[in-house]
Amino acid sequence: MQETNMVRQLEAEIIIKGAGPVGLSMANLLGVYGVRTLVLDQNATTVEEPRAIGLDVESGRALQTMGLEEKTSAEMIQGFSIDYLNAKGRVIMNAEVGASPYGPAQMSSFIQPIFEQQLLEGTERFDHVTVAFNHRVDEISQTNGEAMASGTTSDGEKFEARAQYLVGCGGGKSLVRRTSNVSMEGFSNPEAWLVIDTIDPGLDDGVGCRFFCDPVRPAMTMKKKHMHRRWEWMLHEGETEEEFLDQDRINELLAPHTDPSQVTMLRKCVYNFNSIVAEQYKIGRLFLAGDAAHMMPPFAGQGMNSGIRDAVNLSWKLAAVVQDNASPHILDTYQTERRDHVVKLTKVANRLGSIIMPTSKVKAWVRDLFLSTVNTLEFTRNILRRSFFVIPKLEDGLFVWEGPGASPHSGEMIVQPKVEDANGKCAYMDEFLPSGFVLMGIGADPEADLNSEARSLCAELGAEFVSIAPKAGARGSALKDVTGALTEWRGACPPFVLLRPDRFTAAMFDAEDAAASLKNFIGLYKS
Ligand SMILES: Cc1cc2nc3c(=O)[nH]c(=O)nc-3n(C[C@H](O)[C@H](O)[C@H](O)COP(=O)(O)OP(=O)(O)OC[C@H]3O[C@@H](n4cnc5c(N)ncnc54)[C@H](O)[C@@H]3O)c2cc1C
Repeated sequence: MQETNMVRQLEAEIIIKGAGPVGLSMANLLGVYGVRTLVLDQNATTVEEPRAIGLDVESGRALQTMGLEEKTSAEMIQGFSIDYLNAKGRVIMNAEVGASPYGPAQMSSFIQPIFEQQLLEGTERFDHVTVAFNHRVDEISQTNGEAMASGTTSDGEKFEARAQYLVGCGGGKSLVRRTSNVSMEGFSNPEAWLVIDTIDPGLDDGVGCRFFCDPVRPAMTMKKKHMHRRWEWMLHEGETEEEFLDQDRINELLAPHTDPSQVTMLRKCVYNFNSIVAEQYKIGRLFLAGDAAHMMPPFAGQGMNSGIRDAVNLSWKLAAVVQDNASPHILDTYQTERRDHVVKLTKVANRLGSIIMPTSKVKAWVRDLFLSTVNTLEFTRNILRRSFFVIPKLEDGLFVWEGPGASPHSGEMIVQPKVEDANGKCAYMDEFLPSGFVLMGIGADPEADLNSEARSLCAELGAEFVSIAPKAGARGSALKDVTGALTEWRGACPPFVLLRPDRFTAAMFDAEDAAASLKNFIGLYKS
């Protein structure tokens, strides 16, 4: 740091504006990848009020890469059941969000202030990551060679920060987005919701999450660790924020479910949700991530999770570019890979909202009849559930989609079952994987089977070898596919999988095609 005309000068490879869950996730990932990172946030510390409550399996996987999964999961309830109840309290639809093909729990409930504090502590492991609170960014600019953020500290001191790239994780009011004149497409959802967070020691009914699809008052509740709990109630047209923030009114709403006198209120507010997405995610050397790039209603629990996906997708690409391993063109694939996915998830969130929110008794009756019929048969129940999950598969972007290395799994996130190492340690697969590229052989050994040309192409990518032995076969030093899920995932595809650092499949090939396939991917990655 230097002083120039009383303006403090700061420098890094990447600047992140905003130390919310998305900015801090990005800082941890860049920390793992060895990138000099500066996070600037106007607040004195991380947030104290909870907003997001559900963390999904892909975010859980990101926490594994960050090396924070064990610590953070100790403060979560991993996997639970979600019941949708009609006005009479009968279950009309049910979803289990426990074990997932991609990790231990499809969804976990968490306490955002604890989570953000853990992410912040995570950044302290890295000498090359600095989180500067009390640093409000007032101006963003860029030249051909660098991105700049200037602003004022809470002591009134001016600062200027420079880096190769800047990621705007400043939330919904994003300065980066406004400065760059990027517009948001979409709409504001008309319904307002009262959202409260409580501690309720007397209410432990064993159910993780309930949606009350009652046309008189649509509502939901979710249990969190340490007897914390979220409640949300929809307001009808003409009902006011003032009326619903009144504690007596809140007690009336709580009374059918619990004894309000035993409830400690942590926070109460009224929200209008948005379904909006930025037209552009990348503006030269500036990027948008998290709420700065998109906002959606919370009915699918995907707002923050989508932001963490942004951080996962962008961080390894930024690391590869600033460390001169990849062409800056790969940064264009951030928008290609992330924006459409968010648009799809926003539709899912609104579809789930439309199940919960009907206030017409006739519409609610038709919905109840439809859902309870579908819910009786496993087959139809599965079809309905699938319509609410977007599987992690890219449609376009940085993976081999044609020529050597193309496969039906290209662009798809690899499953994450438990595997066992040579010492008999059994754990979820990512625990054994390095954080960069991986060249995995499923039922094959890259070390033994690949020729020297393919091996040197792997070295060029920094890809490390991992061999997976089938459940029934000999293991040697390979990881054993104890559940058979990796063998099943591979199916009839070739045995070698080039995995990107974010665990998406870049290419899949036989030993004979290995060099041609790797060259095909390297062509996309380096030019
Ligand atoms: C009621 C509700 C329920 C939700 N439930 C879920 C859920 O279950 N699951 C889920 O995934 N998501 C959920 N969400 C969405 C989730 O809360 C947000 O998507 C998430 O918090 C956004 O994180 P972020 O890091 O992008 O932005 P934020 O958390 O808004 O962080 C932005 C940071 O940038 C800083 N900042 C802003 N401007 C400046 C500046 N000029 N200079 C310096 N710093 C600046 C701020 O101080 C802040 O720390 C919910 C939201 C609501 C409202």
